[in-house]
Amino acid sequence: MGSLVIVSKGKDPYRTTKRILQRFPLPDLEGKSVLIKPNAARLASPGDGVTTHPRVVAAAIDHLKEKGARRIVIGESCIFGVNAAEAFRVTGMKEVSEEKKVELLDLDQGDPMEIAIPNGKVIRKIKVPAVLKQFHFIISVPVMKTHMHTQVTLSIKNMKGLLWRREKARFHQLRYDKKVTKGDKELDIAISEMASVLFPHLAVIDGTVGMEGMGPAYGRGKRMGMILVGDNALSADAVAARLMGLRPKTVAHLRLTREKGLGEIDPQRISVVPRDYSKWVVPFEPPPSRLSIPFPSVMVHDEGSCSACLSTLLVFLQDYHSKLTDYRLEDQNVHIGIGKHLKACPRGTILIGNCASKMKGRGIFIQGCPPVSSQIADCLKI
Ligand code: SF4
Repeated sequence: MGSLVIVSKGKDPYRTTKRILQRFPLPDLEGKSVLIKPNAARLASPGDGVTTHPRVVAAAIDHLKEKGARRIVIGESCIFGVNAAEAFRVTGMKEVSEEKKVELLDLDQGDPMEIAIPNGKVIRKIKVPAVLKQFHFIISVPVMKTHMHTQVTLSIKNMKGLLWRREKARFHQLRYDKKVTKGDKELDIAISEMASVLFPHLAVIDGTVGMEGMGPAYGRGKRMGMILVGDNALSADAVAARLMGLRPKTVAHLRLTREKGLGEIDPQRISVVPRDYSKWVVPFEPPPSRLSIPFPSVMVHDEGSCSACLSTLLVFLQDYHSKLTDYRLEDQNVHIGIGKHLKACPRGTILIGNCASKMKGRGIFIQGCPPVSSQIADCLKI
C-alpha cells in the first residue's frame, strides 16, 4: 500500500503529536535542514482553532532533533495587513522558537525566486521565498478547518502560505474561460498546480481544536483532540476531510491534485492507522454560502472575491455593522460588493477592493487590495 496516515486522539497537543511521530516511519533526517510551515499567518491565540497550536510545533521540533536534523526553522508568510512579529508572538510561535532554540523566519523578508509550473493551465510559475531552496524537508502543519473558498484548508492549501508576499492574492485574481477551467474554480486549479511543485514531505495536521463554519478565520472552534500525520500530504488531507464528514473527492482542490497523480484520496486505498478511524468522524458545519447570514440587513454581492477581501469585510462588519444604518438602500439592506467577477449590484452599493473597481459608477468605491477595516470606515465616515 502507498501512503500511510496515522490518526491519534489525546488531550495534550504535545504528547499526542510526539506519540504519533515516534511511531511514524520517517526518512533519514540526520544532518538535514527542515522547514516547519505552521498556520501562523493571523493574529489568533493558541486553542482558538485559527492557527496551529504551538505545542504541536514543539513536539515536531523535539522529534526532529532526536532524528538528528541539523537545522530546524519555523517559517511563515502572513496574510496581507498582519504584522509578522506580532503574529508570531500572539500565536505562540515566538515562544516555541525561543524555548526550543530554533529559527523563526518571516518568509516575506528575504528575496523571492521563481519556480516554473510545467503544464500549468492557470499558473505558469510561482514566486516563493528564495530561502526555500536551503531546505531538504518541508513539513506542513495546518489546522483542520473549513474554508469559505476551498471548502477545507489542510496541508496542501497551507503551502499557499509559502508564496511570497502578494503572490498569494494573485491566486484569487485568476480568470480563465470555461474551456480551460472545465467548471472548476481557478483558485482550486491553482492550488493543485502549486502542489505539483510545492508539495510537503510530511503533513502533521492539527485537529486539537479545528474550525467549522465560517473558516478559515471567523468560524467556530471545534475541539477534536486529534492529530494526523501522513507521509503523503494529499492522502493525509483526504483522511482529515473524511474525519470532517466530507467525501474527499467532493473537495475540488483535493480531487484536482489527485488528478495530477500526486497521491491517493480514496480512503480505501490509503493505509490508515487505526483502521477503524472513521469512528472519530464528526461532521464539521460547512461555511455559509452567503455572508448575510451572520449579519442581518447586509447583502453581500460576492462574485469571485479572495479570502483577503472576505476577511477584511468580516472584520469590518464585526466592528462597524451597527453604524451602517445611513447606508441602507430602499430595500432597507446595506449592499456590499466584492470580487473580480462582480457584474450586478444596486446603485448605492459599497464596493470594496480593487477587484470591484469596474463597478465604481454604481456606488461608493473603496480602493485597496484589500483595504483594511479602518480604511473602509474612514471612507464611509462612520
Ligand atoms: S481586491 Fe480584494 S478580492 Fe481582489 S485580489 Fe485584492 S483582496 Fe482579493
